[in-house]
Amino acid sequence: MRSIKPGRGPSMMGGIGSLAGVAFGLIWTFAAASTGAPIFVPLFGVVFIALGVMQALYHFRNATGESRYSAFDITDGQEEPDPLNERFGAPPDGDPTAGGTAGGYCPYCGQQIGTEHQFCRHCGRRVD
Ligand SMILES: [Zn+2]
Repeated sequence: MRSIKPGRGPSMMGGIGSLAGVAFGLIWTFAAASTGAPIFVPLFGVVFIALGVMQALYHFRNATGESRYSAFDITDGQEEPDPLNERFGAPPDGDPTAGGTAGGYCPYCGQQIGTEHQFCRHCGRRVD
């Protein structure tokens, strides 16, 4: 399994945006409570604060932590089959090369390679 990790810059931006959401929630909650609005109006702000805090923790950990949460995991069909592929009729093993083309594509440089090769002949990295 390979992973795609979120960038640290975008994560920092997301964290700052989440804090802005928390600030909005605080203002909303206190403003709504001070007007004597029905209880669900200030509660909406509390939900906003809770979501903002959770998102801020996630983003700031990705921005500054040593190992980031994965944005995407890259798996092949043997590791983890795709339920939608199976539902809509693709081969159950999910192998993208099963359709008859000889070989696949190098995950590093994207060039087409044959299944019989252990190393990519364009970039030289191991692909088996
Ligand atoms: Zn390559």
